[in-house]
Amino acid sequence: MWRPGPLGVAAARHGVLNHPGITFAGDTHGCLDHLIEAPPDDIIIHVGDFAPVDRPVSELLPPGVLERFYFIPGNHDYDRPAYRECLLEDPALAGRCLHGCVLQIGKLRVAGLGGIFKQRMWYPQKRLTAPEYPSPEDYIRTLPKKDRPGAGSSRRMRGAIWYSMWAQLACDRADLLVTHEAPTSHAHGFAGIDELARRLGATTVVHGHHHVDYAGTVCGGSVRVLGVGLRGLTRLDGRVLRAGMRSRGQGPR
Ligand SMILES: [Zn+2]
Repeated sequence: MWRPGPLGVAAARHGVLNHPGITFAGDTHGCLDHLIEAPPDDIIIHVGDFAPVDRPVSELLPPGVLERFYFIPGNHDYDRPAYRECLLEDPALAGRCLHGCVLQIGKLRVAGLGGIFKQRMWYPQKRLTAPEYPSPEDYIRTLPKKDRPGAGSSRRMRGAIWYSMWAQLACDRADLLVTHEAPTSHAHGFAGIDELARRLGATTVVHGHHHVDYAGTVCGGSVRVLGVGLRGLTRLDGRVLRAGMRSRGQGPR
C-alpha cells in the first residue's frame, strides 16, 4: 500500500491530501490517448502544450474524460492559429480553461496561469521585475499602425504571460496553482510564479513546460511544487502514475 513520503506528509499538513482525486497530465504534444490511465474518478488537469492538434481537443480525449477535464494552454498552443482554435475555441471545453482565473474544483480553489514569460514583455526570473509592457494593449500601441494586429495575433505576443493578468489573479485566493511556466524550484523557473503562489495563499504549484517529473518546494519550503513530465501523469498527492517520456530529441519543450 502506498504511504506518503516526506513531501506527501507536507501535503497532508497543508490539507491537500484531503482531496487527492486530481491527476495532472504533463505536456502531451499531440497524443492524449494515455489520459485513459488516470483513475476513473479523478479530475484531470492538463498543464499545457497540447500542440500539434488537428481537431478540436474534446474530440481527441479518450471516452469518459471530457466531463472531468480542465486545462491551461502552454506556449506551443499558440504556435499556429489552428492549434489555438482547436483548444481555446472548442465549444465543448467552455468553462474548462483555468487560464487567468480561479475555479472551485471539489474542495479546492484552483488557480491557473498558462503561457510563458517572454523577455520582451515581462521577465521576472530572478526577482519580481517591472514589466516592459504590462498588457497586450500596451504592446500593440507601440507598433506602427500598419503592423497592429488583432489582440493576441502578433507572433511575439503569442503565449505570453502578461503582468495585467498575473496581477489580477494575484488578488484572488487559491489552494492550488497550476501553471505551464515553472517556479524557481526548477533551474529555469521564475520568481514570478513563486510570488503568485505566495499571494494566492496556494500551498501547491503544479507545472509543465520542462518535461520533467520532480517534487520540490519554493517560498522557504511553505509551497510544494510538482513538475509533470512529457505525457506523464502525476497525482496531487505526488504519486507519479505514469512517468514522463525522455524528452531529449522529441520535439519542442
Ligand atoms: Zn512542452
